[in-house]
Amino acid sequence: MALMITAECINCGACEPECPNNAIYNANEEWAFADGTTVKGQIEYHGHMVDAQQKFSALSDSIYFIVPEKCTECEGFHEEPQCVSVCPVDCCVDDPERRESKEALMARKDLLHP
Ligand code: SF4
Ligand code: SF4
Repeated sequence: MALMITAECINCGACEPECPNNAIYNANEEWAFADGTTVKGQIEYHGHMVDAQQKFSALSDSIYFIVPEKCTECEGFHEEPQCVSVCPVDCCVDDPERRESKEALMARKDLLHP
C-alpha cells in the first residue's frame, strides 16, 4: 500500500528529502511524476495518459502530503519506509484504502525509474 500523512503532521519537512521517489510534497506544492524520478514521456494516471512533466494540484493545503501514485513504500530502495523512520510525530502511516502487493510496488518503482 502507499503511505499517507495524517493531520498530526507538524510540517517539519524531515520526510521530504528522504523519499527515493520524491512522492512527498509540502502543502500547496504542485507535483509531477517526473519530479525526482527518471520517468519521461507519457504515463497512465487515473485511466488517462499524461505527460510525466505535467503538474497536478497539491493534495493538501495545510500539511505535507504523499502522492500515492509515486509511493512504493520505499520498495526497491530501502528495507523500511523512510518517511516513517524520520517522522518525529509518527504521522506517516499505512493507507488502508491502498493495499498493494510487493509486485505492484516494484512495478511502480520500475515505472518511475526506468
Ligand atoms: S514510504 Fe518511501 S516512497 Fe513512500 S512516501 Fe515514504 S519515503 Fe516515499
Ligand atoms: S516528517 Fe512527519 S511531521 Fe515532519 S513534515 Fe513529514 S509527515 Fe510532517
